[in-house]
Amino acid sequence: AEAREAYVAAHPASQALHERARQVMPGGNTRSVLMYSPFPTAMEKGEGCHLRDVDGRDYLDLCGEYTAGLFGHSEQRIHDAVREALGRGLNLAAVGAAETSLAGLICGRFPSVELVRFTNSGTEANLMALTAARAFTGRDAVLAFRGGYHGGVLLFPLSGTNPATVPFPFVMADYNDVEGTVALIREHADRLAAVIIEPMLGSGGCIPARPDFLAALRQATTEAGIVLIFDEVMTSRMSGGGMQARLGITPDLTTLGKYMAGGMSFGAFGGSADIMGLFDGRIAHAGTFNNNVLSMAAGNVALGKIFTPEVAETLFARGEAMRARLNGILTGMGTTMHFSGIGSMATAQFRAGPIERPEPPTAEEEALRELFFFDILASGIYLARRGMIALSLPVGEAELDRLAAAVADFAEARAALL
Ligand code: PLP
Repeated sequence: AEAREAYVAAHPASQALHERARQVMPGGNTRSVLMYSPFPTAMEKGEGCHLRDVDGRDYLDLCGEYTAGLFGHSEQRIHDAVREALGRGLNLAAVGAAETSLAGLICGRFPSVELVRFTNSGTEANLMALTAARAFTGRDAVLAFRGGYHGGVLLFPLSGTNPATVPFPFVMADYNDVEGTVALIREHADRLAAVIIEPMLGSGGCIPARPDFLAALRQATTEAGIVLIFDEVMTSRMSGGGMQARLGITPDLTTLGKYMAGGMSFGAFGGSADIMGLFDGRIAHAGTFNNNVLSMAAGNVALGKIFTPEVAETLFARGEAMRARLNGILTGMGTTMHFSGIGSMATAQFRAGPIERPEPPTAEEEALRELFFFDILASGIYLARRGMIALSLPVGEAELDRLAAAVADFAEARAALL
């Protein structure tokens, strides 16, 4: 309560903006993930890996726009590419060279992707991948995992069965449960079009899939003629060719999104030529902004010039070192708090690890998560409300030192609760 009161006192302009927003948008926002009680911090601008809120407070940005902000807020080469594209005009209602070169970059990097198509978001990419799998197999159901997140209409709660939002029948399985999942795949083989999985649960808490689990899914889906879809919307940053390249496990379809157009809106789905070939006219896939000139121009620079496979490896290593350092501090203090994740993504956990699958949080965990968020925010570091970190390229050693100090201060100040 005290941390909340301090937050309210320090953010009058954010509070006033929230009051106005609530008059015109349900919940006062247009992106559920950004809403938290009592009101969210509203940002005014960003530069590099720094943000300034509407009350004039400065933050180190380690939220990294939930992975979409990989390049930071002011990467000059991306801004230049967008300005150059703007100079040639918007909304040309035509195919262009930039989409072919960006598609070429993606096909060259992701082992599963022989052919690719663009969308406006990761949500649409997943909806289209599922549509393709259903058309390809002639089956209708999809196996997904509890706690998985594949977009605004494709979120899977920890309890209950189907999401209410899409009219596909879903079979729900438990993440990292080899035996149970393989049994479900076999049981439902004749109605399953696809198995869709994040190689690491992102929103679900940065919980990595065990390699043997993904390998078992690969084998069971191949045997049953089911399309295996890796949702790499978040995890594609884990190497030049995503988690699939890192693990050497190749799905049939892959979905992409987030940072890949340099921070412009983006999504893509791609895979084997036999499945993706359906879009040669047999299935339609339109979308006014699929090849919008800003996303395509920025994406070419982002992937082709900046986030090269070498840079992806460096970022991965920086993230691994960060998590080891944070966990070393926390273990040294004797807390169960730790950071899960892989590479440049991490989530604060308030139960003993390693965590294999998400579980409904206890009231105590909820309270600690909220306290962590407000304490770290008060120290000038902006994270996702759920305690997720996604490193951006401008984050360097000095910034990671700041994070380590803030986490140590939190663990010390709140030792009695942890
Ligand atoms: N898939 C995963 C794994 C995601 O994390 C997200 C977004 O957070 C999506 C899909 C949806 O992407 P978008 O928000 O671009 O629709």
